[in-house]
This record gives sequence, structure tokens and C-alpha cells, in this order.
Amino acid sequence: MLKFSLLHDKLTYMETDRMEKIVSLAKRRGFIFQGSEIYGGLAGTWDYGPLGVELKNNVKELWWDFFVHARGDIYGIDSAILMNRKVWEASGHVENFSDPMIDCKKCQSRFRADKIDINAACPECGAREFTSARAFNMMFKTYAGPVEDSAAEIFLRPETAQGSFSNFKNIIDSMRPKLPFGIAQIGKAFRNEITPGNFIFRTREFEQMEIEYFTAPGAWADAFDYWRGEMQKWMAMLGIASLVSEREIAEGERAHYSKRTVDFDFEFPFGREELYGLACRSDFDLKQHTMASGVELAYYDEAAKEKIVPFVVEPTFGVDRTVLALLAAHYSEEEDKKGGKRTVLKLPPQLAPYKVAIFPLVANKPQIVEKARDIYSSLKKNISTAWDDRGNIGKRYYAQDEIGTPWCVTVDYQTLEDNTVTVRDRDTAEQKRVATGELTHFFREELNRPTA
Ligand code: ATP
Repeated sequence: MLKFSLLHDKLTYMETDRMEKIVSLAKRRGFIFQGSEIYGGLAGTWDYGPLGVELKNNVKELWWDFFVHARGDIYGIDSAILMNRKVWEASGHVENFSDPMIDCKKCQSRFRADKIDINAACPECGAREFTSARAFNMMFKTYAGPVEDSAAEIFLRPETAQGSFSNFKNIIDSMRPKLPFGIAQIGKAFRNEITPGNFIFRTREFEQMEIEYFTAPGAWADAFDYWRGEMQKWMAMLGIASLVSEREIAEGERAHYSKRTVDFDFEFPFGREELYGLACRSDFDLKQHTMASGVELAYYDEAAKEKIVPFVVEPTFGVDRTVLALLAAHYSEEEDKKGGKRTVLKLPPQLAPYKVAIFPLVANKPQIVEKARDIYSSLKKNISTAWDDRGNIGKRYYAQDEIGTPWCVTVDYQTLEDNTVTVRDRDTAEQKRVATGELTHFFREELNRPTA
């Protein structure tokens, strides 16, 4: 089965030329590698390399700054991945968290029935006979403790949201928030996807950034519109908004607890697919957990002198899908000044793995190398900075463009005379002289420039 899934991964992500180039750049330049690669991989898992982890961390940090630190009404938490199995019974995941699965009767490949045309040929072997669809629960099971019996069976969480609901009372008791308020968290989630694929788009282990926003029951519709606007602002900051379209999910297709759902679909190289979601989960989760745990999850409204069970509006963001959307939106190939081709990752500077790269013009002139080293060590203290002294300057520019470094600094003979360096801009390839003492200030100003 593993072999087929891997093959499937490969077939789908190699579909388009652009996607192939992004996957290849990601591997070649240390962004993303296949999980367990030296053992032939493990379907639906990917590892982030030195540049990928910087990009991913920058996404998470920007998200936390925007949705938690810059506001006063959102409380951050980091709940455990392993939870009491009663959480998943109460939330409905044990019973309902499943996708319809079909098998090809000839080659036994498995597919999600809602993702393929069952009247067409099997994408793996071409046969035209499938089993009927059956529900497949996507939660990963494991055991807590040394005895592997049903009492010890627990799940790896398939979403971070339930950790936020189960801490509702803790937040009320410890932080005394006023309604409306939210609980946010960033963390890993696990889903035993039937057909992982399209690179990091659909994986079995991924990260989510989620907000559960609690409002008075009568206020959810306004909160929904408000959060739709906040999500749009976020996508504008990432420079991906023009590739996103919003889709209202019809009543029959929504999760049973949802009063309203809007999906944010991104124009990925392999097609238009869900990037983020916004849903009103009503009071379903708080009521279910109150019933199942016996602990009342409610809010005491001082003004009205009554207890209410808030409604929840949930903006949810996949971290890995964000990384993929950023790579896809900002990967560009253009002509350079000499008529050659250059590949540029036009990431917003705040998200780029390195903000600045320092080059000594020549590697065999100790004064230049020493000067460049001094600038490198001093900038590095505040700003993510790379060092490159290999090959000629042109090649170094190409290499930094490809990983999205917004500025390159060259230390040359003139630097030794007047303490200025060349700063070259990634997007315009324009160069200007800046005094070495001004560099930190110069880059700080540039990085604070609004991106949207
Ligand atoms: P899909 O329809 O693509 O399976 P979903 O509707 O099940 O997604 P949600 O349950 O709404 O997704 O999950 C919230 C977010 O988590 C998604 O918008 C997406 O960004 C991310 N996500 C969900 N499943 C995966 C996965 N298998 N791999 C990577 N990211 C995922």
C-alpha cells in the first residue's frame, strides 16, 4: 500500500511543470525534503530543511503577532497533542471524522470517493471496477502506557480546535476575559489521509493555526463577517490575495454543526483547492463537552446577570498550505539585464528565510574579507543574515534570488576607502551605496514597510 501511495504522491505533484520546478527548488536549496527519504520515503510526510524551517517559523511568528500580540482579545495556548479519548467521542470525531473510501478491485489502490470520478478508469492501473464507498476514520490511533488494549487506545489530534474548547473554563477562570474573546493556537495535527499528495498540500502530519472566537449567540453573523475581513488582511500581507477565491459552502455540504462556512481556495499549480476555512461552529462543541465531561462550559454575563453558552466563529489556517501558497505565488522566472534567465522567489521580506546576504567582492583580499566579516557579525545580531564568498558576484546574486533574500550587500575596494557598501535589491536588481554604519537602520526601515 505504501508503494502505491508514494507513486500516487509522485504522479500528482509532478503533473505540472511549475509545480515540478517548485518541488525541485525546495529540495535543491534546503527548504523541503521528502520524509524518511533515505528509506524510500513515507507517504504524506515531508521534512523542512534549514531554509524551510525559517520560512515556516516566520509564517507562524507573523500570524501570532497579527492575531494574538497585536490584539487584546485573543488568548494563546499550546495544548497537548494527546488528549483523553472522551474528547474525540464528545466532539463527534470518533463517529464522524471519516472520508468515503473506495478501492480499485484490480490493483487495490485506494482513493477518496469524493475526489475521483468513480465512472472513470483507475488512475493507477486503468481498470474500471471499484468497490462501493465505505467510511474510513482518519484519526491515527496509538496507545497510552504499556498495555495495548482498548482502554489504553487514544488518538493523535486531527485538529487543534478541541484543545481550545477543552481549555475554555481554564481561560475564563485564569484570564477573566470579556465576551467576545478568542483562543488561538498553532500546532501539529494528524490525519490518516487516504490519498496524500501534491507535495505539502495534503499530508498526514501537518500544522494548523486556529482561532476559536467566542461571541454572544446573536452576534455570530457579524463576527463571521469581521473574521472574513481579518483573513483577507492576512492574505494581503502574504501577497497571495489575488490568487485566492472565496466559496460559500452550501448547507448540505457543511459539517453538521456549522451554521455557515466559507472556504478560501488558492490557485495552486495543480488546481484550485482549499487553503483556509472560516466556519461558525455554533455552540455545538461547548455543549457537547459540557454534556460529556459534566463540567459546565459557559460564560457569565455580568450585565445581563445570566449564563450563556457562546457561539464560536473559527478561522482556520494550514501552515504547510501557507508555505506552499507562498512558494507558488512568489516563484517567478524573469529575464536578467544580460538577457539571461533568473529565478526569483519574491517572498515578502518579513517572511524570507534570510533578509540580507553579505558578500566580500573577492575572497583573496584579507582587508575586504575582514570588513565583510565584521558587517556580517554585527548585522546577524538583529537580522537574519547569510554569508557567501563562493564564485563570482553574479552567481551569488542568482543563488540569493532563488531563495528569496531581499537584499545583497557587497563589500568592495571602495568600502575600504569610504566605508560604504553596495546594497542590491532582489526585485528591481537596482544597486545603491549605503554607509556601513547605517545598514541596520536601513534594513529595519525596509522591513517595517507595510507589505500590503
Ligand atoms: P480538505 O477538504 O482539503 O481535506 P478540510 O476541509 O478537511 O480540508 P479542515 O478540517 O477545515 O480541512 O482543516 C483546516 C485547515 O487545515 C485546512 O484549511 C488546511 O489548511 C489544513 N489541512 C487540513 N488537512 C490537511 C492536510 N491533510 N495536509 C495539510 N494541511 C491540511
